[in-house]
Amino acid sequence: MLIERTVNFAHGYRVKCPSCSTEQWLTAEEYAANAAAGSTCSNCHGAIDLGPSSIALRNPNDLALCDRAVSRLAWYHTTDQFDWPASEKPLETSVVEHFLERVRMSDEELDAYRLIHENQALHIGTYEAALESMLRRMREQDAQDQQFYLFRVGLREGLEIESCWRDENTSPAAKITSADLIDQGIDAIRYLNAHESVGSISMAVLRGGIESVQKLALPVRELELPSNLSVIKQLREIRKEISIILEEHEKSKFERADQERKRIEAWGGRELTRVEAMKRKMWEIQSPPPIPKEASEALMRMRGVVAFNYIKDLPTVSKNNFLLSLHGPSIHGTEDGDVIWLEKFMGLAALLTQHQQVRRTLFCQPWRAV
Ligand SMILES: [Zn+2]
Repeated sequence: MLIERTVNFAHGYRVKCPSCSTEQWLTAEEYAANAAAGSTCSNCHGAIDLGPSSIALRNPNDLALCDRAVSRLAWYHTTDQFDWPASEKPLETSVVEHFLERVRMSDEELDAYRLIHENQALHIGTYEAALESMLRRMREQDAQDQQFYLFRVGLREGLEIESCWRDENTSPAAKITSADLIDQGIDAIRYLNAHESVGSISMAVLRGGIESVQKLALPVRELELPSNLSVIKQLREIRKEISIILEEHEKSKFERADQERKRIEAWGGRELTRVEAMKRKMWEIQSPPPIPKEASEALMRMRGVVAFNYIKDLPTVSKNNFLLSLHGPSIHGTEDGDVIWLEKFMGLAALLTQHQQVRRTLFCQPWRAV
């Protein structure tokens, strides 16, 4: 039986001073409150930037640091590949399109990325790190509508694991390839994750180091709750408000277009006087935004209502991370569309707020040998 580690999204943060290397502990709320301004070193009073570069190991007693325990721990991974870890890992078409069209990578840059991606070692970490990795992909790789899967990973006994752990900030870890591991004659390395569930230990492992996996499609259907009627009622009211704002906005746009037509007719093609030209310039500057401010505020309120009902107890860092990762309701959406969005929000939120049940459901899934 695999050993489970405690899941805690409200964990604190250990940060390291860049000048004197003194480490200090910040609670989740202290970290969130100081995220923008940074912290001050208790020893040399130097500035500590609260980002990936200052992250230190959170728990020196983590079982993942014990060589003999590593293979007995349950590890986690999220991906959109239903058959992970597949023996070949070609770059998906959607990702290639994303890099070429949105990121505007050159062909050479894409080839270099492809080489690393297709040979990359497999990455596994804590439950929290796996979930945060999925949220990051949703946010950064436009993967909002992707079907994701959560995998629970069992490692083989007797793996050759690098004896110490690496700091992702100072030595290659996240981009390590299978070839690098094979060259070093090892099956896996452990590293300090500075990007997901920061301060936790993740692993880069050869495919052959994985014995078997359990899989769960996300969100978890067994956990789906009926939508809260009072929440739906509030969303409907805000949606009505948005419809009225947009209707009035359209009307005023139409009126402006009509005024513009009349002006052009009145000018009859003659040269404008300076005063007329200035008035026209002012009129153009004052043209209404494509989306009225009141409608954007109402949409934010809609998100606020749902966040209050489903993720209010999450620590600020996780809450902000979650809200940034999932698109809000659409400005031109419908009441039915809002309910679909609400259900997606609820399903994803449950992965963070009801992690015990999620993992219990995952424990019951059949093991697949790799
Ligand atoms: Zn210092």
